[in-house]
Amino acid sequence: MKLILLGAPGAGKGTVAKLLTEVDGSVQISTGDILRGAVRAGTELGKKAEAFMKAGDLVPDELIMGIMEERLQESDCANGFLLDGFPRTIPQSEALKALLARIGIELDMAVNLDVPRDVILDRLTTRRTCSNPECQAIYNVKSNPPKQEGICDKCGSPVIQRDDETEEAISKRLETYNEKTAPLAAYYEKEGLLVNVNATSSDIVVSTIKEKLGL
Ligand code: ADP
Ligand code: ZN
Repeated sequence: MKLILLGAPGAGKGTVAKLLTEVDGSVQISTGDILRGAVRAGTELGKKAEAFMKAGDLVPDELIMGIMEERLQESDCANGFLLDGFPRTIPQSEALKALLARIGIELDMAVNLDVPRDVILDRLTTRRTCSNPECQAIYNVKSNPPKQEGICDKCGSPVIQRDDETEEAISKRLETYNEKTAPLAAYYEKEGLLVNVNATSSDIVVSTIKEKLGL
């Protein structure tokens, strides 16, 4: 499957993407994960992106398009991909359209995960992430805590709160989302690709997507 996952921070794009990879082996492409990896590794890209990310601002479109242009042409994408956290702005959507046309890839749909704002806020402040870059399992201190407090069930590494999950950065990320990313739903509606899903349960989102794709 070749999907874009749209939705506010905390809407569950990462969780849904991980579940979908198990359906047919499509790969999850998370620009947030790629950027965090670059910051950790101290690459040129990481150095350029770090300050934007800490503040809850978007990283400039040119940097993101550079990453995606390479990533989408890697061989593991041939079988399908789930774009998680990209595109995030109208210029990114337009650039993606041109890029896909150029490399001969057609999207199945853009799925918009619709979650009420109070649920989003609650999820973001209680979200915890495995600190092991190879794992990055997602937990929630209230609804899905690790079996042993602060320790990842899957790999045993410490489970932490992300730098951009302080209250200040969260409200900035939501503001940025409303201003820059929310308009993408109308864009993909016009492209004839939009599917809106009420996303309070990730399992229901996954079964809705499978049904739409005839899987
Ligand atoms: P979330 O969706 O939970 O906000 P992500 O992990 O997708 O978080 O992204 C974390 C940060 O990385 C964003 O706040 C932003 O600074 C940067 N980022 C990720 N994807 C993009 C993108 N497509 N365009 C611009 N910035 C991005
Ligand atoms: Zn882990």
